[in-house]
Amino acid sequence: MNLNFKMSELVKSQRAVKNNINNLPTSTDSLDNMLFLIFNILQPLRDRFGIININSGYRCPKLNVLVGGAVNSNHLYGRAADITAKEATLEQLYNYVIAYLDFDECFIETNKAGAQWLHVAYNRANNRRKTNKDMRAF
Ligand SMILES: [Zn+2]
Repeated sequence: MNLNFKMSELVKSQRAVKNNINNLPTSTDSLDNMLFLIFNILQPLRDRFGIININSGYRCPKLNVLVGGAVNSNHLYGRAADITAKEATLEQLYNYVIAYLDFDECFIETNKAGAQWLHVAYNRANNRRKTNKDMRAF
């Protein structure tokens, strides 16, 4: 597999910059998790569907609070990314992950403003294959 993901794609955050938060992982464990996420989910999706944008990847505790993330969010450990694709629908990404990849979480999520993305997570210790199946119909 040729990797063309950069770690910087998983840590960049305009919210963090605006709020003067240094959103970098402080443990090698989080860095390992990010690599596993890239290898097992993000790169395969990019290889299959082309341009994949990461809206939110790793979140340090301060950033996670700021964006209203779950208390024990996979984002805190470098295990999750919220993504969109330029030339594929979220439903296509969702169905591909479920059919072909190993994963911990695969959710199509919507915020109050109506923006949508795919939340994917990989947990090398325990992949639970959690989905929000109710979203499959759209
Ligand atoms: Zn997420």
